[in-house]
Amino acid sequence: MGKRLRAGGGCALAVLLDGRALAKRVRAQVKAEAEAWSRRTGVVPCLAAVLVGEDPASVVYVRNKERDCARAGLRSRVLRLPAQTSWETLAAHLDALGRDREVHGILVQQPLPPHLDAGAAVACTDPRKDVDGLHPLSQGHLMRGEPGFLPCTPLGVMELLRHHDVPLAGRRAVVVGRSTLVGKPISLMLLAAHCTVTVCHSRTPDLGAVTRLADVVVLAAGRPGLLTPDMVRPGATVVDVGINRVGDTLVGDADPAVANVAGAFSPVPGGVGPMTIAMLLRNTLQAAQALEAVPAAGGGG
Ligand code: NAD
Repeated sequence: MGKRLRAGGGCALAVLLDGRALAKRVRAQVKAEAEAWSRRTGVVPCLAAVLVGEDPASVVYVRNKERDCARAGLRSRVLRLPAQTSWETLAAHLDALGRDREVHGILVQQPLPPHLDAGAAVACTDPRKDVDGLHPLSQGHLMRGEPGFLPCTPLGVMELLRHHDVPLAGRRAVVVGRSTLVGKPISLMLLAAHCTVTVCHSRTPDLGAVTRLADVVVLAAGRPGLLTPDMVRPGATVVDVGINRVGDTLVGDADPAVANVAGAFSPVPGGVGPMTIAMLLRNTLQAAQALEAVPAAGGGG
């Protein structure tokens, strides 16, 4: 394991699960592989992001994805649609992106305006280009333990755990949060890694009684300070997916003093966040390689 983390004046105990460093490595690997593959095939992997409206955070996220694609040797395209876009128009654009042979990955930036159903929009995208891993087909593959696109944030959590050699098989994992985006998929991935998994949520009474039993805790609740040191078994691994804005600062779901009890701990920022985008880039490269490896279906534009 790597560096140790010094938390809030306490003694330095927990190993730092350094997502920033690992994401940098993954991005460099993607870049090297994408460039070599592009030289061989003449194809540059391309990610298309669909942005409906001007939600300020979404505008920044999409801009960052464009920048990160360029740095990794991938192309990107952003389809910017007005907030009042109708369902029919959005669905037609998604269909066109699915047929576009120059596009290998499609992501629908969420949230969508309230009149548009995000789940239905994702279900409209070509599952072969589902680099976000949120299409019902991808989710079905995950549930069945079959190969397919995995959602980027939970995949980033698993990469962080594997890279730091955190033992998983036979260990008790507790996931806090049951969303489709994070909590449920990470639970399935930990199960596939042979953990005994417990999923907690907003209706779980006495959360600490459950988390104290865990060898690995994954926090994905979006509640700052939810996990306090007394809720952690000494030596346990804590992965904090939460991103919460408190004043001018971004914090996770764990009280930073958890690092004094945990054996390994992912910081916010600099933990899971950077891994998410690195996984998106890797999924996009893999989508391009898979699409170009098979003959085009009839009717593609
Ligand atoms: P969500 O709001 O869809 O789900 C939150 C979950 O937490 C729910 O299942 C809810 O039951 C549970 N929860 C809420 N309060 C709780 C409590 N007091 N005790 C136990 N469980 C509780 O959120 P989400 O989309 O799953 O995201 C979760 C967090 O992860 C957010 O902070 C989000 O910003 C962050 N996030 C980070 C990344 C990243 O790249 N690092 C990506 C996606 C989400």
